[in-house]
Amino acid sequence: MIEDARCVPSGLAIETGLCIVGGGPAGIALALRYAHPARPTLLLESGGIDTDPATDLLNEGEVEDPALHPPAALYRRRALGGATGIWGGRCAPLDPIDFAPRAWMPHSGWPITHETLRPYYEPANALCEAGAFAYTSAAAFPAGLSPPLEGFTSSRFTDDALERFSCPTDFGARYRDALARRPGLSILLHATAIGIETDERREAVAALNVAAPSGLTFTVRAEIVVLATGGLETPRLLLASGGIGTARDLIGRYYMCHIAGVTGRLHPAPGRAVAHGYGIAADGTYCRRRLALRPEAQASLGIGNFIARLHHPRPADPAHRTGALSALQFARPFLRPEYTLRLGASERPSWPHIRNVLLDLPGTAGFAATWLRRRRFAVRKFPSVAVPPRAGIYALDFHAEQAPDPQSRITLAATRDRHGVPRLRIAWRYSALDLRTVREAVAALAADLRNSGAGHLDYTPDEVAADALREGAYGGHHLGTARMSASPRTGVVDENCRVHGTRNLYVAGGAVFPTSGQANPTLTIVALALRLADHLRAA
Ligand SMILES: Cc1cc2nc3c(=O)[nH]c(=O)nc-3n(C[C@H](O)[C@H](O)[C@H](O)COP(=O)(O)OP(=O)(O)OC[C@H]3O[C@@H](n4cnc5c(N)ncnc54)[C@H](O)[C@@H]3O)c2cc1C
Repeated sequence: MIEDARCVPSGLAIETGLCIVGGGPAGIALALRYAHPARPTLLLESGGIDTDPATDLLNEGEVEDPALHPPAALYRRRALGGATGIWGGRCAPLDPIDFAPRAWMPHSGWPITHETLRPYYEPANALCEAGAFAYTSAAAFPAGLSPPLEGFTSSRFTDDALERFSCPTDFGARYRDALARRPGLSILLHATAIGIETDERREAVAALNVAAPSGLTFTVRAEIVVLATGGLETPRLLLASGGIGTARDLIGRYYMCHIAGVTGRLHPAPGRAVAHGYGIAADGTYCRRRLALRPEAQASLGIGNFIARLHHPRPADPAHRTGALSALQFARPFLRPEYTLRLGASERPSWPHIRNVLLDLPGTAGFAATWLRRRRFAVRKFPSVAVPPRAGIYALDFHAEQAPDPQSRITLAATRDRHGVPRLRIAWRYSALDLRTVREAVAALAADLRNSGAGHLDYTPDEVAADALREGAYGGHHLGTARMSASPRTGVVDENCRVHGTRNLYVAGGAVFPTSGQANPTLTIVALALRLADHLRAA
């Protein structure tokens, strides 16, 4: 049943068994999996079926350094489905090493292992509509999938690692009917949780205060409450409620994204084939091979996890001579702001881009036709622009682990939203280890490219660092702000995602990641939510 808080009378008191706050992929996965004969479930979602600008204003906040972090409301979405209404759909599980304590990675070590989560990755992959849970090219493509760069061999990198792509599935649109039909489940749209009331000892949630868009408020009393409000709103709600549980000073700290960027100029050796685009698995899923730093190499270099993909050069630099890439500069007004950031500022006058388009008219037209057919009008969409650069020079698109740092944190601002809740203040910090991870990994890759005779990477360490920070913490991966730890001294939630020191408050979402790994987080967020559903059902 799907209802609307705009029709709820003021002062109403709702009683339920489980209350899930937030209808993004975490909240939806939990609601779909959880079914308890004696415990009805209520999912509160701040937005509606579609986004509206007034509701999205609730995401606004302050950013300490706007050069390093996008505005607080960007890369987020208040509507059923959460940020999957705009996500890219790239899926990859965390690696076993990501869960392990590592002497060289501060604050590392999850209280659960990859094995704990392994049974949930498969159903999570199915919910994400990313095909089979097969994340090596050997497993996904028995007949073979061309390597990114022919002849590349390395003891430190594998090129067998795969990323798979969701449709990309908007969890709200895709699962709305299933949610509406689910016995014992009610969804209340336009219902924003604005405060958590606790019992006298601050050990249990007594009630949630909830607001409708008009400002009318009501309460929800539930046996169990799960915050699935995303990695930024979860600490905000906990902090705005005066803290609950034992780990008050840890809430909002250790805020991580990923360290990502496009760098260098990769010259394949003469005659070496490059496959930097997508393969299609037997189940129809787009997949891409990538170069992943092996766990032993991470340990010997003393750096975080790291992957790189062969990529076209940054579109803003017309030296690529590629019409389709230059045409992207002119498509900016039609793209979502979240996706124009990676195009970079137009660094030169636009006439070289016009020249590229004119000199490469067949390439540009072919790209436009393919984009319309395989992206715009397709259900399973071609994941991203992947055109061979005419100049024959590629770049490295890297995605690296960010180390947890207690000084990188979310706090409350002095200003409030229209419901009176303090806004967020984001102070995202990167560390020397973060820059060392990308610098050393790129250096290792460059050396192994040279040694294998497959190609030559032209780069400088300084440019790698600059490219890693060029877009700052972009990408909508909001992690670590209510981190998981066996001990209340080092984390906000325990291994079952229950807030330490509370009886009935849980967190679902990227906030619980103690470390970020290299993988995009949503597949793991969904797997964790499914595991939480089983835990709560058994409780
Ligand atoms: C442009 C973009 C591209 C991305 N690409 C990828 C990708 O390729 N791969 C990947 O793995 N990830 C990607 N992500 C990240 C991915 O979207 C998030 O990891 C994922 O959506 C997080 O799920 P969540 O349910 O924890 O939070 P969200 O999706 O943020 O959902 C939280 C929900 O809670 C609701 N809510 C918030 N506060 C309240 C409140 N107080 N009361 C009630 N409801 C509330 C919100 O309205 C929202 O619907 C991308 C994100 C963006 C923005």
